[in-house]
Amino acid sequence: MSYRPSYRKMREERENARKAAGLVGERYPSVTSINLHLTYYHRLSGPTVMTRTMNFYAGTCAFFQIACVQDDCSGGGYDLAAVVDNMVKARLATEKGRIGCRGSGKILGSNHAAIAYKVTIEYQKPV
Ligand SMILES: [Zn+2]
Repeated sequence: MSYRPSYRKMREERENARKAAGLVGERYPSVTSINLHLTYYHRLSGPTVMTRTMNFYAGTCAFFQIACVQDDCSGGGYDLAAVVDNMVKARLATEKGRIGCRGSGKILGSNHAAIAYKVTIEYQKPV
């Protein structure tokens, strides 16, 4: 018996949330592209673990929840939706920050990982 949701179920939920988020072009009509540059930090395995770049365009799902890549982590991840939202509202081009994983694990405990992010947004030129 397992108290953790199966990976299949988690994938399904993630897929549904992705679809519910809608497309970038629908949500942010003024945006042409959104670039996320992420650097993952894990407490147990030392400083930088990996970096990752994600690009979003008008036809991409506006889904900015990043999963925590630690196997033991439950309920974790990072949500950049609010960051993107605020940036678009203020029409900001770049923003940097750092957020900690909100999940916890039996072995890892809480506060086990973080990401540093740099978000770059390009807007349509005013006509
Ligand atoms: Zn985590």
